[in-house]
Amino acid sequence: MTQEVRFCTLRAVRGVRVPDFGGKDLGEDEMSEAAVADAGSGLVFPRREEHIARWRAVKSEFKRRGREAREDGISHRKYQVGIVVYAFSGWRWSLPEGHPEKEKAYKYWTGFNVKPLPGPTAPKACGEPMAVGSAIRARYDLAVALGIAAEPQIDDVSQVESKTLPPCHGCRTILRHLPIMRPWTIIFGMTPEEGGPEEEMTFEELLKVHNHIELGTLAVSVPATDDEQPK
Ligand SMILES: [Zn+2]
Repeated sequence: MTQEVRFCTLRAVRGVRVPDFGGKDLGEDEMSEAAVADAGSGLVFPRREEHIARWRAVKSEFKRRGREAREDGISHRKYQVGIVVYAFSGWRWSLPEGHPEKEKAYKYWTGFNVKPLPGPTAPKACGEPMAVGSAIRARYDLAVALGIAAEPQIDDVSQVESKTLPPCHGCRTILRHLPIMRPWTIIFGMTPEEGGPEEEMTFEELLKVHNHIELGTLAVSVPATDDEQPK
């Protein structure tokens, strides 16, 4: 038995989340497929390719921040994970030149893992929702890239072995429901020290690697466990 879930209706959710976006909706098409020239203001939003190019230009700083965030990780077994998100804020981008918020249209957000006690039922908080949630609260509406700095380990749900640590099953599920994440958002894995393996894929590819996605759609199949049965 599988549970089929779809990405949220990005447009509808984002319309609520960024009500002050100059009266203009940040639709997926506009944000990702083409630069938009607003008929009234002449405002042009970056294309997806430009977002990614900007991230590549700051990639070494992005990695540095992810590894730095890892140092705050709290773990009963000293297994620390650092998260960094490079996010875009549409309404800041739309502000007039010279406005102090405009230069923050792209910004880094970070998080770290917390698992103070051992055992499978001990509470655990991951860095991904911490970092991405901080960006959402500050009205950032697009995650260009999400980086994970940690020692690799086998995914305990998909059993996939990677050269770097992917977001865990719980985080993949949570991220999939956050409109700030796009199918093309870069997921970047890195080791705690420089010089180790690095992995780069899109969020959609990540979901496929871990069998979270049905080819050709954005629908996702998750094996239903007792915990996931509808209540
Ligand atoms: Zn996680």
